Amino acid sequence: MDYDAVIVGGGHNGLVAAAYLARAGQSVLVLERRAEIGGAAVSFRAFPGVDVRLSRYSYLVSLLPKRIAAELGLDLQLRRRRMSSYTPAGETGLLVDTGDEERTGASFRAVSGSTKDYQAWHRFYASAARVAEATFRSLTEPLPTSAELRRRIGDDEAWATFFECPAGKRCASCSRTTSCAESCSPTR
Ligand SMILES: Cc1cc2nc3c(=O)[nH]c(=O)nc-3n(C[C@H](O)[C@H](O)[C@H](O)COP(=O)(O)OP(=O)(O)OC[C@H]3O[C@@H](n4cnc5c(N)ncnc54)[C@H](O)[C@@H]3O)c2cc1C
Repeated sequence: MDYDAVIVGGGHNGLVAAAYLARAGQSVLVLERRAEIGGAAVSFRAFPGVDVRLSRYSYLVSLLPKRIAAELGLDLQLRRRRMSSYTPAGETGLLVDTGDEERTGASFRAVSGSTKDYQAWHRFYASAARVAEATFRSLTEPLPTSAELRRRIGDDEAWATFFECPAGKRCASCSRTTSCAESCSPTR
């Protein structure tokens, strides 16, 4: 049989593309090598005998635009969780409680011994939120050029941090990793 489109991989991107094509009147074949569809965006029973499903990878549905859910008529309810994360650190742990700033700040202080990391984390997340706001709509529109995206973000420091060298840059002479803006002056 002939198809207008064949999609290899039934992860959520493949399924969304297939659904849009089918709704546009195209005949579509989705080929999935696993026994189930959904790719990384599925939950599964990780522990034999325990009837609890855990997320395989995409534990947060942060990248599914509401527009896609609405256009495809998905019966989907997303809930915000209050506890953003808990990261064990030695005998204690770092708790990020989005409903209690003071508790989060206290947790940073308990783990790092000062307020410096908490302030830096706040600055970083505020910057990430501005970048996300300026770029999210690019998920459902033709891909903008990097120059256009940079213009939308309008913040050179954020552009450098998230796009130019997100993992920092490595100094050629001493191998130290520094932030994008910082310049390394090796001491010998
Ligand atoms: C550790 C981790 C955590 C993540 N957390 C999040 C998160 O919290 N929130 C979020 O939005 N995103 C998260 N992501 C990203 C998210 O998982 C991916 O963006 C998303 O799964 C991509 O979807 P996809 O359909 O392109 O690919 P996939 O989900 O990888 O699906 C690809 C599918 O193609 C199939 N396939 C591959 N090759 C073939 C072949 N040759 N023939 C047939 N079938 C094939 C695979 O079996 C699979 O089902 C995370 C990713 C990782 C790795």
